[in-house]
Amino acid sequence: VEGNSARPVKSLSLEYETSQRTSASTLTRVEPTFAVDRAINTSYTWEMKKSGGALPPGTRITWRWRVTDDAGRSWLSERKDMSFDDTRYTWQMKTRSLLDLYCRPEDAALVDRLATNLEEKLARGRLGVETPTGNRIKTFVYPDTESMKAAMLYPQDWMGAVAFPTYNTILIPVNASLLTWAQGALAHEVTHLLIREAIFGPFDDIPVWLNEGLAEYVEGDLTTADKSLISNALRNGQLISVKSLGSPFPADPQQALLCYAESHSLVDYLINQYGWDKMRALLAVFKDGATYDGALKKVYGVDIAGLDKQWRVSLTS
Ligand SMILES: [Zn+2]
Repeated sequence: VEGNSARPVKSLSLEYETSQRTSASTLTRVEPTFAVDRAINTSYTWEMKKSGGALPPGTRITWRWRVTDDAGRSWLSERKDMSFDDTRYTWQMKTRSLLDLYCRPEDAALVDRLATNLEEKLARGRLGVETPTGNRIKTFVYPDTESMKAAMLYPQDWMGAVAFPTYNTILIPVNASLLTWAQGALAHEVTHLLIREAIFGPFDDIPVWLNEGLAEYVEGDLTTADKSLISNALRNGQLISVKSLGSPFPADPQQALLCYAESHSLVDYLINQYGWDKMRALLAVFKDGATYDGALKKVYGVDIAGLDKQWRVSLTS
């Protein structure tokens, strides 16, 4: 910001906000240093590694400056905005059902194949939600996993594709050898965004196993490998409890795999046993705000420990 004031400037601040969709305001105010003077010339650099909040590509950022002089008079600059883009590639946009897909022109044919069976897969999850018009899902398709991770600040080693629910954005790698996997992964990540839509509100919190289990369920049936992971863990007394699965999964890839498999199995159990009406009711209870124990009790009549017990019994029968 640069300018001149008739009287000495007493305070100067920058207010900025992103296109993140939350029920509370995300407006941030910072006060960069400046010389107390009539002439202003200062700037602010947002270091995302320090603030910890990494933005996905395509996020819009708006900002304005507020300047107050020593007589208490304030001046607000015109609001400006920019798109936080991944400028390493030239992006081409394609529209498929509820997605806006951004890809490199040379990947366009592959991206058509990526989206072919999406509707079919999504139909497995009867969440009963749609993304509102005007809030279409931005999906950035990268040529490989490494280039996708380079667009993020702190990617997990085992990360395949990623959803940013509050930004309504997905990052996914696709190339010929990843195609079949990516079709499943896309349905998985879209499901996370639909779940966020279902629970959107001031509370906005569900157990990790429920979020991941539903996304895995939509992706496809439990694989033989997943089933044997679970039965081995059960046999060796290493099954992770439903309570632990409520928190973010561990960084260890083997443990994370078991967490995903168990979450999938838990959601399978709930849907086979109680159906989709109850599942939608559960999400509605979380939307209104409830503890994990409270929500389960209200819909299924059992708390976390009770569900853990029922589910373990189902694994051995
Ligand atoms: Zn997931």
